[in-house]
Amino acid sequence: MKYVSTRDNSNEYNFEEVFIKGLADDGGLYVPTSLKKYTHKELLDLKNLNYNELSTEIINQFLSDFISKEELLSLVKKSYSTFREKEVVKISSIGKLKLLELFHGPTLAFKDVAMQFIGNLYEYYLSKNDKKINIVVATSGDTGAAAIDAIKGKSNLNIFVLHPNNRISPVQRKLMTTVEEKNVFNIAIDGNFDDCQNIVKSMFSDLEFSKSINMSGVNSINWARIIAQAVYYFYAYFKLGKETVSFSVPTGNFGDVFAGYLAKIMGLPIDKLIVATNENDILHRAISKGDYISREVKETLSPSMDIQLASNFERLIYYINNSDSKITLDIMKKIKQNSYQIEKNNLDIIQKDFLSESCNEQETLDIIKKNYEENNIILDPHTAVGVGAAKKLSFNDCVVLSTAHPCKFPDATNNAINKNKKLPRELQHVLDKNENFQVLKNNVEDIKKFVKSKV
Ligand SMILES: *Cc1c(COP(=O)(O)O)cnc(C)c1O
Repeated sequence: MKYVSTRDNSNEYNFEEVFIKGLADDGGLYVPTSLKKYTHKELLDLKNLNYNELSTEIINQFLSDFISKEELLSLVKKSYSTFREKEVVKISSIGKLKLLELFHGPTLAFKDVAMQFIGNLYEYYLSKNDKKINIVVATSGDTGAAAIDAIKGKSNLNIFVLHPNNRISPVQRKLMTTVEEKNVFNIAIDGNFDDCQNIVKSMFSDLEFSKSINMSGVNSINWARIIAQAVYYFYAYFKLGKETVSFSVPTGNFGDVFAGYLAKIMGLPIDKLIVATNENDILHRAISKGDYISREVKETLSPSMDIQLASNFERLIYYINNSDSKITLDIMKKIKQNSYQIEKNNLDIIQKDFLSESCNEQETLDIIKKNYEENNIILDPHTAVGVGAAKKLSFNDCVVLSTAHPCKFPDATNNAINKNKKLPRELQHVLDKNENFQVLKNNVEDIKKFVKSKV
């Protein structure tokens, strides 16, 4: 399969470049030039596969020139052997609503599903290429832990994770800083998440620096992450055995919900995709009325969705404009100037597939409380936003993606119900292990010097 950039589709790239680079040189995101569309009969053939087999079938569509199907299956099996659930994900119910639990991986959030796979893809790539790669990533909490767990101990790979000092939950931090492997480096920046993200961006755009260390990124725009996430939409659809299914997806960067859209355009009979946001509601304003103006980021109970510029939305813009990269580039310029209003014809197309809703802080707490009292289930605050959006839209029997284990966000659950979930037994040890991280100033040159001294 070949890929192009959303901002200039005149050049084609293969999967290897798409995976290792993440972002195209022109700043666009990679998208495939064509997609397999499953027929009804082909879908029936996938229906009874287990999670690993299904992953292999779906993912293989995108990278068959990179890895053979047999090797892919063993890579997938290895990736998901680290999960506490044999079938990787689990479907549970709250009343008629279904929860698709995606948090049974090593670091308790859905990011593990793609990240464990990506860690092994790097290892496979390096087994064929004599190179050393340095991954640098900024995190507001969940991505960093998932990436570290996926990369730790792998040869010819180092990982550097920047988190905002004192601004992530202690559980989130400890899942990263108690890892002992020598190829893991945690840096706490005196600043906020945007500062961390800006440092990583400026390290990437310093080509002399980034080439000198073979710098690579694993943030949510990486196509390899999207395809691994599309799999659980197929899996949930087959498990439920209904004719069509709608999904409510707690959203920040539009990555997870875009994976659902990908499943839909590959022929999976998805009815609606509900984009569920917290008070950082740019995507709700965009999808409900075309208003894509970003505002100041607010800190909320669901920090992994505290985002005001949803990177993966660019892929949707490209698709709804019939894969026209000129139009996409124009729109991205408007977004950069923070002056993009979605035109009526585009909005009509978006609203065929997407609905949206937003939950404020009080509503999020109320949902956690109500579900605890009525169903004895403790929801994490991100999942609560997904449940709230589905209820507000009266989608009472859809599937809500449950993106994090409630034990990761004890402040929110304590606030709502005076209770918090314990960490799973296998992870209890992180609570009292020694932590190892370096506090550095919010200064890109200092960070570069630190990274250089370690590679
Ligand atoms: C990252 C994250 C999200 C948002 O996912 P996107 O792909 O950015 O939309 C939602 N919930 C949790 C727990 C997360 O870690």
